[in-house]
Amino acid sequence: MKVLIMSDIHGNYTALDAVLKDAGKFDKVWCLGDLLGYGPDPNECVKRIKSLKNCTCLLGNHDAAVIGRMDLEAFNRDARLSVEWNQRILKPEHLEFIQNLPEKLVDGDMTLVHGSPRNPVWEYILDWQIAMYNFEFFDTDFCIVGHTHIPVVFEMTEDDSNYHLEILNPTGAVVLQKRSIINPGSVGQPRDRDSRAAFAIYDTDTREWTPRRVEYDISSVQKRIVQAGLPERNSVRLMDGW
Ligand code: ZN
Repeated sequence: MKVLIMSDIHGNYTALDAVLKDAGKFDKVWCLGDLLGYGPDPNECVKRIKSLKNCTCLLGNHDAAVIGRMDLEAFNRDARLSVEWNQRILKPEHLEFIQNLPEKLVDGDMTLVHGSPRNPVWEYILDWQIAMYNFEFFDTDFCIVGHTHIPVVFEMTEDDSNYHLEILNPTGAVVLQKRSIINPGSVGQPRDRDSRAAFAIYDTDTREWTPRRVEYDISSVQKRIVQAGLPERNSVRLMDGW
């Protein structure tokens, strides 16, 4: 079975549409949260995600903030202004969809969360130490996370109580063999200095993980961000991928 994995769409409909067109055939979708925040098209993004067949979607920290489940004090100024803008324009039926999203799910050999298995909505797995701690907090072979907007695979080797962690940045397909924490990167606001939308395809039969990138019309999104009155930095950063 082929699974399309997306995270951190952040109201960027043009990027979401490019990913769905580029992904080819897939049997199901895992969407790791943060549908909202930063971008100009939250209603369009929620509507499209709702329309996908076999789509499992999780709650992200920006989503949680929009529905009042997370304190805005924890956010920087641009993120906070974006959350408040989302609160004003999100349609009631889309708010309801966000309110019902789970924080953590297990599907086959995968645990799915937005942030980390230890703290599903908020913790960033940014380095090997944080990754190391988090291996204790899921029981499946693999765990997929989003939140940092940076694609990465943390692979754990364990023998006779010796642990070894490797950090991989595959550009092509890899077969997942050891216990791993994997991040597909961000669809709507990549932060690895590559402005293309990031996503991944996972084959549940072969356990093959394929990171993918696709270009999209960034300038059209930037125009809509400015027109909406969202913070200017939300627009500028898209072109540089940070
Ligand atoms: Zn995010």
